Amino acid sequence: MSLTLGAALEAMTTFPEIEPADFVRRGFLVVAPHPDDESLGCGGLIAACRAAGLPVTILIVSDGAGSHPGSTLFSAPILAKLRQQEAIMAAAALGVGPSHVHFAGLPDRHVPMTGREAEQACDRIATLAAAADVVAVTWRHDPHGDHKASFALARAAVRRVPGATLWEYPIWGLTLPPQMPMPGESPRGVRVRIADHLPAKRRAIAAHASQTTALIVDDPKGFRLTPGMLARFDTDWETFIECPL
Ligand SMILES: [Zn+2]
Repeated sequence: MSLTLGAALEAMTTFPEIEPADFVRRGFLVVAPHPDDESLGCGGLIAACRAAGLPVTILIVSDGAGSHPGSTLFSAPILAKLRQQEAIMAAAALGVGPSHVHFAGLPDRHVPMTGREAEQACDRIATLAAAADVVAVTWRHDPHGDHKASFALARAAVRRVPGATLWEYPIWGLTLPPQMPMPGESPRGVRVRIADHLPAKRRAIAAHASQTTALIVDDPKGFRLTPGMLARFDTDWETFIECPL
């Protein structure tokens, strides 16, 4: 019988629960397609690593300028700048300084998988991954082109880095219909206990005010994380799916 999304999500609930210190031992690199994915999917583990004195680096792949295309108050360049600032504030809430937050600046909604810009982003991920034993990127099955592209770039990069492992964190895949067929085998991975760091994670998510509040008033059709979506990430653990390289 082929796998369904519901069965994959069910499998994730049975992943072994581990402590952050048993997962990241040397350094943690988070590859986020958009500013906010890092906080939603990995905010607790980022805070736990920093509390333990481990280095954490965040690479935001896209410029985030596509969330409110109808806004005139927040034109694409202004929105991109705002979202950079939000990402830096979110990282600070998790204990990560601005020099450890990197921006590839690829176009939101059009992150390329091939070509010169994709290769440059891949090189950058590989360089940053050299200091990490754990690299995390969004789940390959997240139904968003930028998430899929970021996954592809991260996998190509980490394959070149001895000693680094790649893990996938689900964001939008959590919202897919459970009966949807899924390619591949049942996922394997870990659930990392982050209860002690949930307050910091909440502060980091809140720092992305353009995505979580009515800050941008002149684009009612613009993107906004719903309370239901946010609740999916307000838990005592974070899920990381093992990615064979
Ligand atoms: Zn995203």
